[in-house]
Amino acid sequence: MLIRLGKFLSSDQVFLKINENFVMDDEIFLSKTHLHKDIIFSGEVFKADENVLLNGTIKYTFLAECARCLNPFDKTVETDFEAVLVHELSEDDESDEIQLKISEGCVDLEEIIKQMIYLSMPMKSLCKKDCKGICPDCGVNLNLEECKCEDNLTDPRFDKLKDLLKD
Ligand SMILES: [Zn+2]
Ligand SMILES: [Zn+2]
Repeated sequence: MLIRLGKFLSSDQVFLKINENFVMDDEIFLSKTHLHKDIIFSGEVFKADENVLLNGTIKYTFLAECARCLNPFDKTVETDFEAVLVHELSEDDESDEIQLKISEGCVDLEEIIKQMIYLSMPMKSLCKKDCKGICPDCGVNLNLEECKCEDNLTDPRFDKLKDLLKD
């Protein structure tokens, strides 16, 4: 997951737009996250004084499980990050900026992309906003069919009433 900046860095150009389609080939990561292997990266690199800055957006899709109906579905997430591109990583623990190393004119984004995916992946997702979930009594997916359980539901207060009426 390399971006090539050699030409840009040695030119007097100050701004570069990047659009890349990356393929995640780390099988362990893919199986842990249920990620689709195609990842879209878009970003801007710009020179500011002594620094080279990167603003990146990662767009990925993973197989999520609906928290209500438990059906698997594809969910697409977009997440942003900002990083400073440096030739030497500094050991400054105080700073919480993300540093990425430029080596031979290239920056490898694999680690930051994995981190950002871990951080942004939602724990709970719904297949749709108004997902009806599954019936707790008979287990049918209420998005697909209706069940009769609700008709049979009895309110204990009515039972009391029935008893009273009996007398
Ligand atoms: Zn659902
Ligand atoms: Zn039911």
